[in-house]
Amino acid sequence: MKVLNRLRIITSSFVMVVLGVSVAYVGGVHADDHVGGGSITYKSTKLDDNIWMLQGEGGFTGGNILVSKGVDGVVMVDDGLPKFFDLLNKTVSSSVGQPVDYILNTHLHGDHTGNNAAFAKTGSHIIAHQNVRNKMIKDKADPKQLPVFTFQKQFNAYLNGQSLHAIHVAHAHTDGDAFMHYPDLNLVHTGDIFFNGLFPFIDLTNGGSVRGYIAAQQAILTRANDSTRIVPGHGPLASKADLLKANVMLKNSADIIQALIYKGKTKEDVMAANPLKFYHDEWSWGFITTEKFTATLYDSLYTAVTQGEGDHSGHNH
Ligand SMILES: [Zn+2]
Ligand SMILES: [Zn+2]
Repeated sequence: MKVLNRLRIITSSFVMVVLGVSVAYVGGVHADDHVGGGSITYKSTKLDDNIWMLQGEGGFTGGNILVSKGVDGVVMVDDGLPKFFDLLNKTVSSSVGQPVDYILNTHLHGDHTGNNAAFAKTGSHIIAHQNVRNKMIKDKADPKQLPVFTFQKQFNAYLNGQSLHAIHVAHAHTDGDAFMHYPDLNLVHTGDIFFNGLFPFIDLTNGGSVRGYIAAQQAILTRANDSTRIVPGHGPLASKADLLKANVMLKNSADIIQALIYKGKTKEDVMAANPLKFYHDEWSWGFITTEKFTATLYDSLYTAVTQGEGDHSGHNH
């Protein structure tokens, strides 16, 4: 629960990060406030012989990170906010003791890709979905920030004796998401297609969609069993049951809003009726309130219903 409370506190930073406002500045606010006092740290959780989950504590450092090491080098999934590069680098060094060779990005948001350039300068190779690279180029990102290897549907790595499949899910949280499946370890990093215990952020302006998000979660569920460890984009380490619960909540919410759209209810009608209020206490948080969640579902489903863009899963743009 501590993590969730912290997530609520960091809301304003989160808003700025995902909206693409200067990420360095956002990190700066927190670093100036806390890093000197040493109150922000990365909690390192060992998940198997040579793989750790890193999670910021004491402030918002970005999304959850996985780091593994072995004979082929150091492999990382996502790399947090820029201001925490030194802290992250130090934490990684103490876990694995060598530079990072490969970084896989789950998607384009700055709280997951913020240190691409800094790590690239130390020799890391960045890997992500083609749409991540395209969007970064469009946004005139630092060339060092860009993935040097990209994929469309799936990327397979066989490093350190572990299979790692980066599997693209279309139009979910964005249009360039991939979840990371380690079948040998029964482990998944979901990126932001799972916010554990929180209403999810579905970034419609970057190609996300509600039905795609539901399908993406279901694609992970089909690969999971009761002993699968699931690293969410945000929130504590999860089980299949946690992801299933979030998926049921989202699907039920979407069905409620869609039924109202079919009945001809306007967005104003739906917002006034607050049809998801029974989920408020458990799932609402500072960045994705019940109100914002309801509005996002309405916007995405209204587009789907009126433009026949229902379920994007399986498509690949
Ligand atoms: Zn995120
Ligand atoms: Zn995100």
